[in-house]
Amino acid sequence: MESESKTQNGDLSIYIHWPFCKSKCPYCDFMSISKNSSEEFDEVEILLLKDLETSLQELDVSSIRTIFFGGGTPSLMNAKTISKILNFITKNYKTNSNIEISLEANPATFSKEKLKEIKEVGVNRLSLGIQSFQDKDLKFLGRIYNSEQALKAAEMVTNIFSNYSFDFIYGYQSQSIDDLKNNLLMAVNFGCPHISCYQLTFEEGTPFFRLLQNGKIRQLTEAQEIEFFRYIQDFLERFSFNRYEISNYALKNFESKHNLAYWRYQNYLGVGPSAHSRLVFNNQKYELKKFSDIDKWKSSLYRNLSTYEYRNILMDYEQLEEIFVMGLRLSEGISIKSLKSRFSNDILDPILKRIDLLSKENLFKKSESQIKLSENGMLKQDSVVEFLFN
Ligand code: SF4
Repeated sequence: MESESKTQNGDLSIYIHWPFCKSKCPYCDFMSISKNSSEEFDEVEILLLKDLETSLQELDVSSIRTIFFGGGTPSLMNAKTISKILNFITKNYKTNSNIEISLEANPATFSKEKLKEIKEVGVNRLSLGIQSFQDKDLKFLGRIYNSEQALKAAEMVTNIFSNYSFDFIYGYQSQSIDDLKNNLLMAVNFGCPHISCYQLTFEEGTPFFRLLQNGKIRQLTEAQEIEFFRYIQDFLERFSFNRYEISNYALKNFESKHNLAYWRYQNYLGVGPSAHSRLVFNNQKYELKKFSDIDKWKSSLYRNLSTYEYRNILMDYEQLEEIFVMGLRLSEGISIKSLKSRFSNDILDPILKRIDLLSKENLFKKSESQIKLSENGMLKQDSVVEFLFN
């Protein structure tokens, strides 16, 4: 892109996608390959750095707000790779004084020493994908570790990091409310300051999706979904956790700043195969996605071609819809003032009228300044957004 088309992206969040896992979990549709070869890791290290450098060159950025290593399984990355990426960013860009640098970790992919190295090179928040502390659940979810290893990993993380999250998957027929309670209690007893509870979803193309279609596993009923959702909230609220997003709970000041950037519709750059971005060029907001096919991503970098699979301008109406899809997930909701400063009345008024209609049905809580879903509305978020924008 020419220099005159550079546009201010303000504070930027950066997502780095590490595309390897030890093995593929049967419910997962993220881009990841089961590989563990040092040659491949070294090659991807060089290419990630190149992708990062060339992608950032296009942007005029005032400072870096957050960095997130996701994947895949970024706890498989060599600490030197993480260090090189962070050094590149901090040497060439201004970073916020309280920058959050997160890394997702899978139990059984790190030792105490490795975890210490990860911290020493600059990672200051760890997101541990435990999923469950119970053997039967881990087996069902196709995880590569048992409850003993999950416990050991949790202990290591709590001893080394002060800012961390335990991530759980819930909501399958073999899991009872008591099983869920034991997981949450374990996290609370560890003193964990942030807990994510994601309901199991059945994504097309995954082995779990096929099992669901063949009737080998069943989804929760709507009533069960509500029961689990309410149970998590009531349980964690008793321990001072605030549900700041549909699936995320935090003690005060431990919210994930990086994920808040997505939900608040701030600009972010995604680097690595399949990574998404929302960026501004020439005063226009774009949705961008890197090649999901790792060979295409690699060859475009070797040939100095664009690494983007697509790069589309988002029209005002599309941006408004994205703001609602993301912002209604948050308990804080969406600021009416910022909507009014960004969108014309022609676009905004019909949506606000529909919100008034839904408020009468108790799905929204609208104040002078914010639009938020009620608890009832949170449980029906997808159909609410569909009603607003169709
Ligand atoms: S470890 Fe995570 S990214 Fe890798 S396959 Fe399992 S769920 Fe997907």
